[in-house]
Amino acid sequence: MKYLLVVTVVLVAFWIWRQNRRSASDETPKAPPKGPSVPQIMVSCRVCGTHLPQTDAVAGQRGAYCSREHWAQAEQA
Ligand SMILES: [Zn+2]
Repeated sequence: MKYLLVVTVVLVAFWIWRQNRRSASDETPKAPPKGPSVPQIMVSCRVCGTHLPQTDAVAGQRGAYCSREHWAQAEQA
């Protein structure tokens, strides 16, 4: 009879622990923000003025360009 009490206490403790875990995991999965969290730096092409992310731009000595053609046009003129 003593064991039954111990088992009951363990089961209740386990049940409470599971309830706590479940409610904690329900709160955490907030949908992660989609897309880049850091705002992208936009630059404009020195030849045609097209705005594009700095990561996609062709960097030249005089500025950024939208393509290698415009980079060559401006830097090697
Ligand atoms: Zn351009």
